[in-house]
Amino acid sequence: MINIAIDGPAGAGKSTVAKMVAKELGFIYIDTGALYRSIGIAALRKGFSTDNREQVISILPEIELSLKFVDGEQRVILNGEDVSRDIRLPEASMAASNVSAIPEVRSFLLDMQKKFARENNCLMDGRDIGTVILPDAELKIFLTASPEVRADRRYKELIEKGTPKAYDELLEEIKVRDYNDSHRAVAPLKPAEDAVIVDTSEMSLDEVVEKIISLAKDVKK
Ligand code: C5P
Repeated sequence: MINIAIDGPAGAGKSTVAKMVAKELGFIYIDTGALYRSIGIAALRKGFSTDNREQVISILPEIELSLKFVDGEQRVILNGEDVSRDIRLPEASMAASNVSAIPEVRSFLLDMQKKFARENNCLMDGRDIGTVILPDAELKIFLTASPEVRADRRYKELIEKGTPKAYDELLEEIKVRDYNDSHRAVAPLKPAEDAVIVDTSEMSLDEVVEKIISLAKDVKK
């Protein structure tokens, strides 16, 4: 199996890019952030605080998570319920960031991610794919952009969706998530030593996709 890891900070465009590249290569695309988001949602639904380690750990034994692919689109099933929509609610982002700092949550999700990669040609995106989940991936990309560019992209995206939010608030949120993701003790966000760093601040979406496809084609040869 060929595995491609794409890591990088929130809002770098990982999922948009990964979806397009996976389609072109005929790989499945696995969005691992969705798994952390699902655990965050499960904790919120219990009325728990997502930064309370004890509370979050207590729900893990009751959680059954699986992924389904419908027309190439990933769906997340949490205890039999499709939560693909709920995990995109604004509160799910910070909840995911909080629960992802808990080592027990990371190990709970580890085998599931590795198993997918063993059984499929896949492109997996997240924060620790190249460093922890798939250290032997054939290609590792670290996709990044300045916080300002990322906040601006999110700002425009939300206007398009009809749910605008102030730019300053988005920038602040991105900075907090960057800090949390890169300073946690376990599996912090950082490029793998052998990752190709792609800074998309000055690149169009098509340019980014083209670049990754050409790197992937070199690997497949
Ligand atoms: O990628 P996405 O924004 O959906 O991820 C939500 C949160 O889940 C991130 O802010 C990060 O804290 C966490 N995450 C992680 N490791 C991954 C994927 C996501 O810690 N592999």
